Amino acid sequence: MNRLLDLILSLIYPPKCPFCGRVLNRGEDGLCSACQRALPWIEDGTPAKTVEHCDACLSPLWYRDGVRQGMHRYKFQQGRVHARLFGTLMAQCLQDRWREPVDLITWAPLSKQRRRRRGYDQAELLARQVGAVTGLRVVPTLVKIRNTKAQSRLSPSASRLANVQGAYACRPGTDLAGKRVILVDDVVTSGATLSQCAACLRAAGAQTVTALTFARAK
Ligand SMILES: [Zn+2]
Repeated sequence: MNRLLDLILSLIYPPKCPFCGRVLNRGEDGLCSACQRALPWIEDGTPAKTVEHCDACLSPLWYRDGVRQGMHRYKFQQGRVHARLFGTLMAQCLQDRWREPVDLITWAPLSKQRRRRRGYDQAELLARQVGAVTGLRVVPTLVKIRNTKAQSRLSPSASRLANVQGAYACRPGTDLAGKRVILVDDVVTSGATLSQCAACLRAAGAQTVTALTFARAK
């Protein structure tokens, strides 16, 4: 049924490259071949970003050029369509670069309010796609208990940290004793959101927390 629906949708809305907006040619899967070549991939061997309370922070792409535009389209239009590609690229990055065992995948959630307004939580969609590709279990563990300003509107990392301090908590009854967790978000900039979320996961017993984002800002 899903396949039929996909087919019908692809006839009405031909699949486009989320990065440049061009309609995809036959044989191009998810993104166009020009973007496949030209996107700012983070090369293997580039040191992972350091984020407090995280063992590592991995991302397939730098957050610039077409990636910025693709991310913007993802957040504000066609979230579900692009999640499949973005999450698959994240899953490949995880499989290539993280050799340690993993027990579950979770994500840095939006507040209830924002989720309702947008209709979906982009980090959750990414986490679910990473789970679908890797076969790992996806578990909701965190809630956003306080509304915050958009991190992208705040520049110094000190104000970003203050903005998200105390904004997250684990869901009641969450027990992560000894668990090795992958924490998903869309973009890492200062790392303030991820470190707050990772601290909550550790307080609930997580043995390791590895952050995985679609893109990484310099
Ligand atoms: Zn493209």
